[in-house]
Amino acid sequence: MNKSKVLFANPKAAWQKMEKIFNRAKIKDKIENGDIVAIKMHFGELGNIRYIHPSFARKVVDLVKEAGGRPFLTDTTTLYRHARHTLLDYLETAAKNGFTSESMGCPILIADGLRGTSGQWVELKNYHKLKRIKVAQAVFESDFIIALSHFTLHPGTGIGASVKNIAMGCTTTETKLAMHSSEAKPRYNEAKCRLCLACVKVCPSGAFYYRKEEKKIGYVPEKCIGCGECIAACPSGAITVPWESVRVLDQQKGVIDGCAGVLSRFLPDKRFFINIVMDVTPHCDCPSESDLPVVPDLGIFASHDVIACDKASFDLLTEAVAYPGSEMDKKKKGKGDDKVRAIYPEIDMQKYWELCKESGMGNLEYELERVD
Ligand code: SF4
Ligand code: SF4
Repeated sequence: MNKSKVLFANPKAAWQKMEKIFNRAKIKDKIENGDIVAIKMHFGELGNIRYIHPSFARKVVDLVKEAGGRPFLTDTTTLYRHARHTLLDYLETAAKNGFTSESMGCPILIADGLRGTSGQWVELKNYHKLKRIKVAQAVFESDFIIALSHFTLHPGTGIGASVKNIAMGCTTTETKLAMHSSEAKPRYNEAKCRLCLACVKVCPSGAFYYRKEEKKIGYVPEKCIGCGECIAACPSGAITVPWESVRVLDQQKGVIDGCAGVLSRFLPDKRFFINIVMDVTPHCDCPSESDLPVVPDLGIFASHDVIACDKASFDLLTEAVAYPGSEMDKKKKGKGDDKVRAIYPEIDMQKYWELCKESGMGNLEYELERVD
């Protein structure tokens, strides 16, 4: 396999370089007039301040429009109950973080509907653990996808970058649950239950049922088929994800399958991946507070190859020095060290890259082209 081209711009005047990146990648030739372009990003959890700056997103929107595309910015609802659990919560949080249709110049669509269940199934021929993936509806219907991803470390998959942004961020609740853990069944906490019966109404397998005489909810986890509907429907937090059942390798396999499933909707020329490798925090953008970055800002990586884009970003991370005062600095790790292993000793990135290669989604070998 030939090496894939990865564009790299250092962080100085990074906003200005976005246009050069688009020109070098010949995006104008690849977006056809009227193409609906999903720009997938994370609008930041409420209280977190180290997500992608809105001006980067606006720049990408404007460049897509200049190329003749019809862009929308998008993400999906979360499995956990913070400020992005439903479409309405998420739009409010996005607005508080600086993302509105007015500020961005295009619609902001939460792609998986009101409660995270709206999507279409795609079957995978080559997969590690998930045979089928439910792609969020608005992404499923798009002509072109741009992943505008904030590169960070991640406790479940090692890194949060293009693969994870596409996988976890472009699928519905059911697939999110399955990506986290093949065996995960929701947990029920009777003390928080308001007896609204929403779980009983949505559960397709009868795992949740109403015990009329006792006026209580019954739950039989063995009957659960992992659709995730009850997690989305429960208004009180009585139904949650048992996060301790999530295993790293299982999750890594899940996100690789998830990404492959979403990308199967788009021809290779209709995909573009941009990693913003700045504010590289030890956790992703999902916690409701931010930590110090672990390394100084490194720049922007962009490619039509999702694996090459993530691998190039990871390789430069390995070469980076520690950010003074950060978790990395405290662990006395720096240039040449595996930064993921330093923060998450149980995560083997070598294994992760092998799984990426086996997926056939992209190329681990790349050629870096500098954009000045
Ligand atoms: S995940 Fe789906 S099948 Fe399982 S209990 Fe919840 S609603 Fe029922
Ligand atoms: S949806 Fe939640 S609050 Fe409503 S009955 Fe089920 S567990 Fe209780």
